[in-house]
Formats: sequence, C-alpha cells, structure tokens
Amino acid sequence: MRARLVAGNWKMNGSLRANAALLDALKAGLKPSDSVAVCVPFPYLGQVSQSLSGSSIAWGAQNVSEHDSGAYTGEVSGAMLKEFGCRYAIVGHSERRALYGEDDARVAAKFVAVRRAGLTPIVCVGETLEQRERGETESVVARQLDALGDLSDAVLAYEPVWAIGTGRNATPQQAQEVHAFLRARVAASDKAVAGNLTILYGGSVKAANAGELFAMPDIDGGLIGGASLAAPDFIAICAAARR
Ligand code: PEP
Repeated sequence: MRARLVAGNWKMNGSLRANAALLDALKAGLKPSDSVAVCVPFPYLGQVSQSLSGSSIAWGAQNVSEHDSGAYTGEVSGAMLKEFGCRYAIVGHSERRALYGEDDARVAAKFVAVRRAGLTPIVCVGETLEQRERGETESVVARQLDALGDLSDAVLAYEPVWAIGTGRNATPQQAQEVHAFLRARVAASDKAVAGNLTILYGGSVKAANAGELFAMPDIDGGLIGGASLAAPDFIAICAAARR
C-alpha cells in the first residue's frame, strides 16, 4: 500500500510562542500511526526539532539551496537541514516559482540537492488559472514533472496555483484527474516508482473537504498551508487521511 502523508506548510508564519502552543497541541492530538510532517521557517528548525524529537511527527523546510556550500549569501543547504533532523524539504512551491523566479531547471537542481543530502523532496507542480482555462493543465504539469527525472523516494504534490490560499479548492474529481495523469506519466518510464509514489493534493484543503479529496484513488494525502496553523483544523485533516 502506498504511503500517505499530510504535510503542513507554515509559510512565513509563526513565533516561538505560537509554535510551542501549536506543536504541543499536535503532539497531544495526533495518533502515533498518523503520517504527518510540518515544514517550518528556517529559524524555527531548532525549536521544532527539540519539540518533536521522539514524537511521530516529522519536520522539514520550505526551501533549500541547490548548492552544497560556499559563497551563496542567505542560502541554506540540504546538509544544514539534515543536521537539524529534517526529513523533508519542499521544492518548487508555486510561491517560489512565481515570486522568486524559480524555473524548472532551478527546481530540478534543488530537487537533486535535497536527495543528495539524504532528505525527501516534496516537489510541487501545478497550473495557474489562465493555464487551466486555456486547457494547458496537463502540458504544464508534464513539463514541470519531466524536468525532475527519477522520482523514486520523492513525494510529489499537485498544487493548482488558483487553489492556493484562495479558499477555492479543486474538486475531488479535478484533482483526481491530474493525479492520475501524473501517475500515468511516471509509470510510462517506471511502473514500480509510479505505483509507490505518494502524490499529495494542495490548495485550500480544510477539515470540511479533506475526506472527499483523500478518498480519491490517486490522492495520497495533502500539503496544507493556512489550515496547518490551527491545531484543531490540521488534526482533523490528518484524521481524514487515516485509512
Ligand atoms: C500551500 O501553501 O502549499 C497551500 C496549499 O496553501 P493553502 O492550503 O493555504 O491553500
């Protein structure tokens, strides 16, 4: 059976105080069998690793350098993340692509750097509203996917840009169509990798819609932004991912 995962993306939110309360509530509210991670801002990795070590909740970063070390002011390497106990690093989030000019080649380089450091990439693909309306959804996500190469031991996240932070989620059918397309495209080069590939849906997932999304055959969990900051909402979403 494919591994499930619910990953919270805190984005640029949090404070030492708010994080402590959120992490305590997650530790109390989640089951040890839940497959859950939180991806937090870099400065909080120390706090999160102290709070969560020994728990079943994994943690990770939201970005990483494609370089291993050197004169890259402001950047953070995969090896540094590994030292803080990270299991995951998000790469290719649409906010990084749109706001920081990360193109497919940069995302692919980051994807490789994450694996080189022994971490699991959560790599995001997704189309804008204009691209969807022009009928380009499949060609866009195919291009983003093809840039990556081997997806074994990676997590893929389908995040339609028009659904992120907008309150407008893809319907379960819309999401399933794209997830099935992505899995089939991976299967065309490696059936085993495709069969085992965890594909998350992200974009305005809430407690109220998580169950129907996670019930779709090719949706293996979620990448959760806004709702990962409120413990009761995030716990309810994690509960909806239980089999
Ligand atoms: C995200 O940031 O990856 C995301 C899916 O955000 P939201 O859940 O707030 O739409």
